[in-house]
Amino acid sequence: MIDSHAHLTMFPIDEREGVLGRAAEAGVGAILVPATGRDDLDAVAEMAGLGEGRTPGAVGFHPHEASKCDVAWRRRVETLAEAPGIVAIGEIGLDYHYELSPREDQRRVLAWHLGLARERGLPVILHHREAWEDFLAALDATPKVRGVAHSFTEGAEGVAELTRRGFFVGISGMVTFPKGENIREAARAVPAGRLLLETDSPYLAPVPHRGKRNEPALVRLVLEEVARVREIDAADLERETDSAFEELFLRRP
Ligand SMILES: [Zn+2]
Repeated sequence: MIDSHAHLTMFPIDEREGVLGRAAEAGVGAILVPATGRDDLDAVAEMAGLGEGRTPGAVGFHPHEASKCDVAWRRRVETLAEAPGIVAIGEIGLDYHYELSPREDQRRVLAWHLGLARERGLPVILHHREAWEDFLAALDATPKVRGVAHSFTEGAEGVAELTRRGFFVGISGMVTFPKGENIREAARAVPAGRLLLETDSPYLAPVPHRGKRNEPALVRLVLEEVARVREIDAADLERETDSAFEELFLRRP
């Protein structure tokens, strides 16, 4: 089992070993750790380098942090993209809900990251919230980039828009929420081979842990709920999602 999105660097350093131990006990073989900006880029690269394949990383600026991604930090992202264990550019995207960076900055910084990903042949980890039209336009402006739309919330039509463009879809613990019907619909709609599972730890803990700190061991609850809504065996879904992860992140095209 793989947790394709967990912010392990947001856990206190002295608790990380426990978090990793519980994940291993739950059968989680790898955890992809995305960066969000200046505060965690180096920590992600360090974890990826020391993780012996168990904690691969992604480097980039989250849309909240977009306005801080100046020229010097872009050089830093370019350098770290070459570091051992770094398998993707992320997490990047557009977030018009919080709009912590101006929309114009978000669009410019996303376009820059997509260009870098294409140039390096690296997949991207995409965040999007209340920015759907601009998000698709940004993807269309830089074709031939592969990646995943993580913690997906757009329902079946959104799944079709993304998979038509070759993207993968990440389903988080929101699939267990009582109001998560659109996410269950998305989880049903993703073609086999394009589906990834994630926790988005420390956020979005699945039921019955909702409201508490999330951690990668709980990706099993996401697996079980997605298997239930897809009406397939959890073991089969585990194999499918593990190999989708390998195809996207561990195989170079
Ligand atoms: Zn995230």
